[in-house]
Amino acid sequence: MRKFTGQTLLVATHNAGKLEEIATLLEPYGVSVVGAAEKNLPEPDETETSFAGNARIKAHAAAKATGLPALSDDSGIEIDALNGAPGVYTADWAETGSGRDFIMAMTKAHDQITASEAPKPWTARFCCTLALAWPDGHDEVFPGTVEGQIVWPMRGSQGHGYDPIFQPKGYEITFGEMDRWAKNEISHRADAFAKLVKGCFD
Ligand code: IMP
Repeated sequence: MRKFTGQTLLVATHNAGKLEEIATLLEPYGVSVVGAAEKNLPEPDETETSFAGNARIKAHAAAKATGLPALSDDSGIEIDALNGAPGVYTADWAETGSGRDFIMAMTKAHDQITASEAPKPWTARFCCTLALAWPDGHDEVFPGTVEGQIVWPMRGSQGHGYDPIFQPKGYEITFGEMDRWAKNEISHRADAFAKLVKGCFD
């Protein structure tokens, strides 16, 4: 496992919220972060069929373009009744041509599960894979998950994406009903970040 020994980390995201969250997380390790927008980086096509594959594409493209170690993530939801779909296509299911519609995406997921006649509980997991790539081509990859089930109808207005139909294992509420601090304790992203910090920053 290679440790991060530099001072500046490129975070391959155009999302300011994500960047700030990662900056706060890595501050105790003396790491300062720079976002993809600041470096004018294009967003490469995500052509792989796994979260790890797509996270690696984004991290390597950013490391190569900037000469800095680069961190990226790829995430989504896997529904067992749909053989793991939408998986890496989680965001695509919400695409309308003029923005994203997650009510449409969640309805599509529910319709397909119902059509599959799968028995309840409709088990599923959120996945988040982080990739840290160096300009010399080396990388370290950290997959994170949170197990749970798909519930219907949608419940809760907190969070984002598919949160209103995902009930984590051991809880009676959905991610949409959970406050963000509670979600951040148990989420797929928290799991992946804990592994990244242990592997490369501790
Ligand atoms: P990407 O990682 O930007 O390719 O897209 C991941 C997609 O998965 C997003 O469109 C989100 O809707 C969905 N997703 C990832 N993490 C979460 C989560 O914590 N809650 C709800 N949806 C999520």
